[in-house]
Amino acid sequence: MIIKSATFICSNTKISALPVANMPEYAFIGRSNVGKSSLINMLVNQHGLAKTSQKPGKTQLINHFLVNEKWYIVDLPGYGYAKVSKNSRESWEKFIRNYITKRESLQCVFVLIDSRLPPQKIDIEFCCWMGEIQIPFVLAFTKADKQSVTKTNQNIALFKKELSGWFEEIPPIFSTSAEKLVGRDEILNFIEQTNLD
Ligand code: GDP
Repeated sequence: MIIKSATFICSNTKISALPVANMPEYAFIGRSNVGKSSLINMLVNQHGLAKTSQKPGKTQLINHFLVNEKWYIVDLPGYGYAKVSKNSRESWEKFIRNYITKRESLQCVFVLIDSRLPPQKIDIEFCCWMGEIQIPFVLAFTKADKQSVTKTNQNIALFKKELSGWFEEIPPIFSTSAEKLVGRDEILNFIEQTNLD
């Protein structure tokens, strides 16, 4: 897919204020600092579009970016920041749960995983929840340039092993680097193929 345009549309703290659900949405989520903004910017080839390195635990926003006037990238707030209060964690969960379970135009969730780390409980739990509610999701392993391909593949294999206890079929997996533009074509092709419009 060729990216002709990508535009910031809105940031929301309320589900009720989201744009009309009339175009397919692909949401991106992961632990704070996983490289979500960098990956989004790489996909649309616009460095400042999603804001990188925001202070974790700040106001939790759902950001909509319109791509090629046809579909949305939805930037969801990062999870798993240890220093946020229980209250703010609970409100994050409610907000995200509501968006993910109720948004009719949501096609697929990209769950971002730091490829440098062995499987993290919070990521596995999130994937299991996605499985429970039966929302299509894929895994995008980030920052693959930070170590050898062998190490990345080892961590991916460990993650798949953890998931195999919970899933009959492991979701599609992308290995990515925003730094080295790895995984861009694969993700855009996937979106193009699943975008029935
Ligand atoms: P977010 O909090 O998940 O949106 O993460 P950011 O996109 O802001 O990235 C967090 C940090 O990781 C920043 O310092 C980025 O420059 C760095 N980073 C993100 N993606 C990559 C990558 O693919 N390779 C490398 N080497 N660094 C990355």
